[in-house]
Amino acid sequence: MDHKIEEMEIYAKQNKIPIMEHDGILFLLDYIKKHNIQRILEIGTAIGYSAIRMCLVDSNITVTTIERDKERYQQAIQNIKKFELENRIQVILEDALDVELEDMYDMIFIDAAKSQYIKFFEKFEKNLKKSGVIISDNLHFHGLVYSDENTLSRNVRGMVRKLNQYTEFLKNNEQYETTIYDVGDGVGVSVRKNI
Ligand code: SAH
Ligand code: MG
Repeated sequence: MDHKIEEMEIYAKQNKIPIMEHDGILFLLDYIKKHNIQRILEIGTAIGYSAIRMCLVDSNITVTTIERDKERYQQAIQNIKKFELENRIQVILEDALDVELEDMYDMIFIDAAKSQYIKFFEKFEKNLKKSGVIISDNLHFHGLVYSDENTLSRNVRGMVRKLNQYTEFLKNNEQYETTIYDVGDGVGVSVRKNI
């Protein structure tokens, strides 16, 4: 494994930056490879870890990724430079809900504020190619979605409710076939049906 990748993992751990979990990222990279995904939109860059790893799957892959936190955005830019991927990864510093995109993507990867997942989904599905896929991270929220609500703080309870609403939203969405995989922190794969 490239030591620069490991450095990012250590940095994320030390600074409590919630990059994708080990099994989750391997699942995602495998999916990208198997389905020949080339154009990716990511909501939630953090320090650029997942964007870089997705890009490294194949030299034809390009990533557009959105981050609202300035410090993380700057770290992402630096990391992307270290891998010389400036030409293939575009980072947008803005709240994703304020971003308007014209381009079409094979995959949209949602990995940002959990309370806004439905909004991200509804906003960006117009940028998803026919038979594209929307992948959502953290659907298990460290197992908290299965816990007794009464044991949770108000804040966490709110997020758990939002995530459960999102899972219901995915399951009831007739235009997509959704499977939630028990890898990493719970990864949802929603494939748009060809109808
Ligand atoms: N995908 C990254 C981890 C992202 S962590 C990886 O696996 O390497 C989630 C990030 O989403 C945080 O850095 C947070 O600042 C950002 N974020 C949360 N809500 C957002 C929003 N509405 N718009 C843009 N970025 C957002
Ligand atoms: Mg995540």
